[in-house]
Amino acid sequence: MIKAMITCPRTGKAVFSGMAFGNLAAFDGVKLENNVVRCTECGENHLVDNSTVKAFPSEP
Ligand SMILES: [Zn+2]
Repeated sequence: MIKAMITCPRTGKAVFSGMAFGNLAAFDGVKLENNVVRCTECGENHLVDNSTVKAFPSEP
């Protein structure tokens, strides 16, 4: 499974965006534009797009 991670602009920590994909192709194919992610680090909402999410492989 590929987890889409963001970097919290307040804490600088990697945060799971809540979006997960079955494989890297699905991650690469997704179009993100100002998607809102509730940050588990600082509790605020962050806007994410394709340039701010990073693919993070994890066990299913
Ligand atoms: Zn945050």
